[in-house]
Amino acid sequence: MAEFDLIAIIRQRCASARGDVVLGIGDDAALLAIPPGQMLAVSTDTLVAGVHFPHDTRPYDIGWKSLAVNLSDLAAMGATPTWATLALTVPAADAAWVGEFADGFAALAREFDVALVGGDTTQGPLCITVTIHGFIPSGAALLRSGARVGDGVYVTGTLGDAAAGLRLTQARASQRAANLPAPGPQPSALALIQRLNQPMPRVAPSLLLRGRANACIDVSDGLLADLGHVCTASGVGAEIEAEELPASEALLELFERDTRGALQLAGGDDYELCFTMDEAHAAALLLDLARSGDAITKIGRIVAEPGIRVRDAEGKALAPPRAGWEHFT
Ligand code: ADP
Ligand code: MG
Repeated sequence: MAEFDLIAIIRQRCASARGDVVLGIGDDAALLAIPPGQMLAVSTDTLVAGVHFPHDTRPYDIGWKSLAVNLSDLAAMGATPTWATLALTVPAADAAWVGEFADGFAALAREFDVALVGGDTTQGPLCITVTIHGFIPSGAALLRSGARVGDGVYVTGTLGDAAAGLRLTQARASQRAANLPAPGPQPSALALIQRLNQPMPRVAPSLLLRGRANACIDVSDGLLADLGHVCTASGVGAEIEAEELPASEALLELFERDTRGALQLAGGDDYELCFTMDEAHAAALLLDLARSGDAITKIGRIVAEPGIRVRDAEGKALAPPRAGWEHFT
């Protein structure tokens, strides 16, 4: 098994038929056709083993997640994904591992009609870098800097699930390490672990936010951290109602209120969208979302005073949990 055999496996499993790929994998560079009137949106995200996912994560899930986190960044811009490149560093030329990895990547690529058009394959500690490309009509991008005082603050889906899934995974790992019995996870636990391992980027809702949302970001590092970026970029602040934060059935079942709140406010890896919008757009957006089956929840509002304040049901200020994940701290 050599580098070119691994590339052949990836190429075969990720085959796609997009007409705008003039030249895909196989030459020194891909050639891609951008339709007139469209801007190219480009974003890169790296996943490092042991940092972004536990070492024993299944290769299928690593492949899925490496594309999902990138798709989520494009969703946060309101872009339609089109092409990806994949820089894959693996410790060994393991055909079975690479095949499963490519299957996970390809499953999500097919779902959103993304063509894998190139990459690089090297040996070293497991690390995956994906660059994603997409189209957006000129002037339609959803920026972090557009939030306005008086906007509602909204999120898609539910918050805290992936961080809860990580806790459950880690608890099981330490049980196993201590040779304690670790019974198979219950359905609710499985649902949370699934949200950690196979996040679903909010591509469909993102396209409905064009022309409606004033600002948007994906929740990768935790709501407070990511909404904080929106507030900083927009020169505004936000007030969040803790009671309004959307929680999944599984999170409600397995975690007490305080832990839940901390996971929802500061837990990373959910890949939901957080956006701000003039409430005049809410009714039409809800109607469109009903068709795609996606949910949104209003969790607060944009205010002039900088910083984010979180309030409980009685309107009392809550001390926020430590803000989201940051490298080098
Ligand atoms: P070069 O030596 O010219 O950089 P490579 O030998 O690295 O070319 O790659 C050969 C072809 O395979 C190129 O088209 C490259 O884009 C593609 N490729 C290499 N690795 C990957 C990968 N992990 N995923 C997708 N395409 C890849
Ligand atoms: Mg190369």
